[in-house]
Amino acid sequence: MAEFDYDLAIIGAGPGGYVSAIRASQLGLKTVVIEKDKPGGVCGNWGCIPSKSLLSMAETFHSIKSLEAMGVKVDKTSFDYQKVHARSRAASDRSGKGVAGLLKRNKIELLSATATLTSPHELQLTTAEGKRTVTSKNILIASGSSPRVIPGFEFDEQQVLSSTGILAMDKLPESLVILGAGAIGMELAYIMNAFGVKVSVVEMLDRVLPLEDADISKVVESELKKQGITFLTSTKASDLKKSKAGISLQIETKSGQKSKLEAEKILVAVGRSPNSANLGLEKLGIAIEKGFVVTGDYYQTSVKSVFAIGDLIASPLLAHVASKEGEIAVEYIAGHGHEKRLDPSLIPGAVYTEPGVGSFGLTEAKALEQKLDISVYSFPYQGIGKANAIEKAVGLVKIVCDKKTHEILGGHVVGYSATEMIHEILLARKAELLPEDIASMVHAHPTISEGIMEAMRGIEGWAIHV
Ligand code: FAD
Repeated sequence: MAEFDYDLAIIGAGPGGYVSAIRASQLGLKTVVIEKDKPGGVCGNWGCIPSKSLLSMAETFHSIKSLEAMGVKVDKTSFDYQKVHARSRAASDRSGKGVAGLLKRNKIELLSATATLTSPHELQLTTAEGKRTVTSKNILIASGSSPRVIPGFEFDEQQVLSSTGILAMDKLPESLVILGAGAIGMELAYIMNAFGVKVSVVEMLDRVLPLEDADISKVVESELKKQGITFLTSTKASDLKKSKAGISLQIETKSGQKSKLEAEKILVAVGRSPNSANLGLEKLGIAIEKGFVVTGDYYQTSVKSVFAIGDLIASPLLAHVASKEGEIAVEYIAGHGHEKRLDPSLIPGAVYTEPGVGSFGLTEAKALEQKLDISVYSFPYQGIGKANAIEKAVGLVKIVCDKKTHEILGGHVVGYSATEMIHEILLARKAELLPEDIASMVHAHPTISEGIMEAMRGIEGWAIHV
């Protein structure tokens, strides 16, 4: 009889857990996935997938204006958000079924239960039928994260919404305050505004998307402002009050100017907290810092047989990061490990507003902070033929390079198709290509990607269309 029930037991069927399971099965590990909710995790059910479904419909709705410019008459009086919302839930359902199907096809057991660690090789499962235990040679925890709660702004999911609450809502409010101008806050601001909600975004820092390069934030803020969103940056919110009519809060600018902001609802999008409680981690002595599980080069925790990945650990809270971390951990467990912990400078980030953002590596400010000697070049979308042809000539491609070696240190794109375009620059960086390699590579005309070729030429001092 085998010593353990499984080679690998995975907690969570989000993009971290389910991708790890498939990779483990490919490498011959007998694997079980334990999920307390629906397969797909936050990404499939309350994150990437439903939000991108809404974004795509918001974009379509928003583009009606350009149809009108073409002389097409559109009746906008019968807009039905319930239908829009139902389509986003259908997209989530498809995604969850897809994940369950993939697990089945890879002969991976999926158990519906809440798991707790009781020893380095044992899990207690609480199922609808009662409790049971499973043993496993290795355990990988991919339990994800939850919307961060701030005192005084606790979610009731009626008037004070989390990202989950707003994605579950099938009726639009008339007005909405959004606390936090990170990727989630900005995407939901774009969606709600496009569907006619009066949106005000309150951000404590001095600009939207504060982690992006300042030039990128500037374009997004200015374009979304033109679309009708109000931005209150360098502004602190406090004193939330709820009444039948809606919510009100106090806002205070950096210079100390106070005023009141009112709306029907508020969305609090100020980050996420790792789901590290109630897993039995403390009892096993697994190291945790600020709620995040501490991991080593292959995502092993302080207990040798236990691994942790995804939103549960202190790395960018992104679906593709969770999946890649899982692949690295599982390959190590299976003895195929040659890749180590993800290099943060090679992780792409994306914001799916319109214009959208794709970026990786050092921003200009970060490079200067590190006292690096850099060359920076920004090529504007106005110089891209295709962007002009399709009336999307707002944006830029910005490259940050080492001045002497021309090594690519960062790539930043804002504009139409930015979330797709970023990968060409990232591939160049990963393959250790230089700007001159892309500058001299023939790009099809007319494409938005020509902007990348031009930005690389710019670094080399010979951009053509400026
Ligand atoms: P999760 O997806 O959170 O999955 C964890 C799973 O574990 C859950 O299903 C949970 O039920 C289960 N679980 C937890 N505890 C237990 C337990 N004790 N027993 C059994 N099961 C358990 N990222 C992107 O890359 N691109 C995007 O466009 C994007 N958009 C987003 C939009 C929104 C609105 C939000 C909120 C997030 C978005 N994200 C996006 C982030 C992305 O969703 C997360 O980074 C990703 O889901 C993390 O994956 P994970 O596998 O670590 O955890």
